Amino acid sequence: MTSDGQHIDLGAPPPIPAEAQAAVAELLVRGRLHRYGESGAPPGAAARLERAFARLIGVPYAVAVNSCGSAMYLALLGAGVKPGDPVLMGAFTLAPVLGAIANAGARPVAVEITADLVIDPADLEEKAAATGARHLLVSHMRGHVGDLDRLAAICDRLGISMIEDCAHTMGASWAGRPTGSFGRVGCFSFQQAKHVNAGEGGILVTRDPDIAARAILMSGSYMLYAQNGTCPPDAVMERWRDRCPNFSLRLSEIAATLALAQLDALPDRARDWNATHDALAARLGAVPGLHLPQRPPQEEYVQSSLQFRLPEFSRDRIRRFVADCRAQGLHVKWFGADRAEGYTSAPRHWGDLPGHPVAPATQAILDTLVDIRLPLGLNDNARDRIAAIVAAAVQAAPDPVST
Ligand SMILES: *Cc1c(COP(=O)(O)O)cnc(C)c1O
Repeated sequence: MTSDGQHIDLGAPPPIPAEAQAAVAELLVRGRLHRYGESGAPPGAAARLERAFARLIGVPYAVAVNSCGSAMYLALLGAGVKPGDPVLMGAFTLAPVLGAIANAGARPVAVEITADLVIDPADLEEKAAATGARHLLVSHMRGHVGDLDRLAAICDRLGISMIEDCAHTMGASWAGRPTGSFGRVGCFSFQQAKHVNAGEGGILVTRDPDIAARAILMSGSYMLYAQNGTCPPDAVMERWRDRCPNFSLRLSEIAATLALAQLDALPDRARDWNATHDALAARLGAVPGLHLPQRPPQEEYVQSSLQFRLPEFSRDRIRRFVADCRAQGLHVKWFGADRAEGYTSAPRHWGDLPGHPVAPATQAILDTLVDIRLPLGLNDNARDRIAAIVAAAVQAAPDPVST
């Protein structure tokens, strides 16, 4: 509880528009909850979502699946990853990225990040040279995009195919071009906490008709793939139709209906999230000892969370800071915790996972990194309270060791 007795629900999901509720109710009446049918019904919500999403990102193909984790798994297989292959991954990421690599039977190789929370190009070159890896799965983690033109150029030069994990960047762009359109494949999430809330769901986008064809077939299209929203030409489908296992990773029509109805709301949501983020960043940037990541002007973010570092704080002092904020009703999170907590996952927690990727420089950055989720619809009052709670907790928590 805050001093005025109000808990700030940072976990509140993006709301479901009334027309989506009505469309789902109608679906339930008709019972058409699966995207395919043998009797030639008109294209359902999943197919329409694929068309709309491909248009949004500006690429020819989109394949809807049941999660972003599934999209990344299919992207890796489509890009040609074989069991045992090294796959480079940004070390500031979430557990499903490691899961997608493990699912493909590949070996994760962690690439360090910079203090501005984006992948470190120098370490990328080093790890690529050391392992001979030909694939990179990069998370634009917590919405931090980095110089994607430069990253794409490095990957081109090194013969690396880049897959973008855009779970936190739906609606975001670099130099006017949407995230997800820089890599060979872009992967997005419709999970409840992301920018479009279908409960669960994901989608991959690509310009490569062979990757699209394989993703459609492996997602579980049976031989009804012509019903997909952006199916590649027959000749391409013929090449793959009898050579792809069916992994049953389809998106349900309910989830597709919910996602489709929210795509048009993305620009309004982006304005709302960024207004909250920018107001908080302006306030918190003035707090001594608190460091915000630097963001280049080419980055157009959609910031549904806020990160800052407390680089002079010991671990004990950060623990105190987190406890103080939570005692005031503000559920801040910390990437430095000893054990993985909630959705948070960091290199320290990966020692017993397959391939146990290591990233000490990233962990050192995450050890002082605090994370605040930002729900939609926070008014000035709530923004002021959040900034005040954080500022007070930064100033109030003296280090028991150093004082
Ligand atoms: C949520 C998330 C994913 C996975 O999304 P799911 O749809 O839950 O599989 C992947 N990467 C990041 C960075 C995420 O936050």
